[in-house]
Amino acid sequence: MTRWTTLVLFTLFSGCKSGDTENEYPMDFLGFRDATTTRALVVKAINRANEILQYKGKYVLIPSWIATGFVSDSTPGERITVYLLRPKGQFSTHEKEKTVLDSFSAVIKGTQPNPQAIDCPDTSECVHEMYKGSNIGKVVANILSLHATLQLAKIKVDRNYVALIDGDVQRFQLLFGKGLEGEQAVPFFEYFLAIILLHEVGHLDQSFQLDSLALPAEAKLIYNDYLSFLNDAKKEEARADAYASNAIVEVGGLDTATIALYIPFQGVLAYGYYLFDKSQGGICRHYFDPTEEHPNFEMRYRAMYLILQPDSRIVQNLMSNYLLNRRAIMNKTYTSENKECTILSR
Ligand SMILES: [Zn+2]
Repeated sequence: MTRWTTLVLFTLFSGCKSGDTENEYPMDFLGFRDATTTRALVVKAINRANEILQYKGKYVLIPSWIATGFVSDSTPGERITVYLLRPKGQFSTHEKEKTVLDSFSAVIKGTQPNPQAIDCPDTSECVHEMYKGSNIGKVVANILSLHATLQLAKIKVDRNYVALIDGDVQRFQLLFGKGLEGEQAVPFFEYFLAIILLHEVGHLDQSFQLDSLALPAEAKLIYNDYLSFLNDAKKEEARADAYASNAIVEVGGLDTATIALYIPFQGVLAYGYYLFDKSQGGICRHYFDPTEEHPNFEMRYRAMYLILQPDSRIVQNLMSNYLLNRRAIMNKTYTSENKECTILSR
């Protein structure tokens, strides 16, 4: 039996194929083919991830299309092949994503918050009045539903490779990679992909355990409170996230600091979409988990940020306040009555 684990947002599914050989195309049986569109970006991300991984010398990532000579033979570490794939016959133009983002921008521009509700906290019922009557909830829900269908990366735990889905890399870049484009020299999306690759290596490296995280007492309490919300499948995602953050912390240095920037940045972007949807369903999407297998996207980034900067009171509060809100909202009457809330896992 083989087990596939998928990254940031994705489905867990099983697949077996008898007669696999070392050189056999890994995902052929799922109908995937080699893709090329984002290869240059992925190579940059692989190099970034390898800068972190070389600190321990345990793993090295190699793009499948540059299998020979990508790193020197003397480079230590187990080789993990990174494939860039697309479903057979699929060449998406991402028109749907562009339309959804355009309508989001248009609605945001044309909407003012209700002045009577502007200071309402997420845990108060008056928050639902903030954008009442506007289409904000709808356009945010559209963005998040696109997000929920992305399958950015997959790994096969017993075979040591990572597969990135080319079209979803592009879609993810459209939805979450644009924030500071043109204003900053830092290529955020490249860093973000590097973190995803490190997360996948975390799934492969089962020797890393959450107990071994060296956090100061206050941060440890908050982090353990985060874990208390998670079932076993979600804890495995948290463990792979922690592996990525922890690897960055262990290496230190300027390059890794810039990679680390992307983690809080992504959290802000995710929050940017959530921020505007204050309907009951919107609040539930902001605080509850999208599936039984994956913790809330924003919560994960706050947790990764906490591992990166465990001594910062601000970063500690970002996580602990979020968890406090989540707990309070779990106890609201509407979360057990609102249909959008009840389909989310709490
Ligand atoms: Zn994962």
